[in-house]
Amino acid sequence: MPTADRSGPDARVADLLVLDADGEEVVFDATEARDFLALTGGLEAATVSACPTCRSRILAVVALVDLLDDAPPFARSGELVELADEAPTLHVYVRDLGQRCTHREWRDPGAEEWSDLMVQLAGPAIVR
Ligand SMILES: [Zn+2]
Repeated sequence: MPTADRSGPDARVADLLVLDADGEEVVFDATEARDFLALTGGLEAATVSACPTCRSRILAVVALVDLLDDAPPFARSGELVELADEAPTLHVYVRDLGQRCTHREWRDPGAEEWSDLMVQLAGPAIVR
């Protein structure tokens, strides 16, 4: 896991994850997540599909790279560019950890792609 630059063992509470299809992830705490979303226009320009009630969404890698190119540097932007550059598919995935959401209102085909990946990455323990 690319977490070498964490400042301390108890320093951060994960609020938002950005993952690729291999499960490589960049972790944002609440402050970092707020800055990240503010500086990228809420990721609207890169969003392929999104849950209407939380921040979980699917992003197009190419559009995300463009967004990051245009945004000023922010916490973890370097890691995120690296993740996007090395993503094995055309999509990366945002997972909102900051709120409980069943994504029940998320009804387009992206919802299935997103939840399939989360189940796959979580391993057999929660597949049932
Ligand atoms: Zn949701």
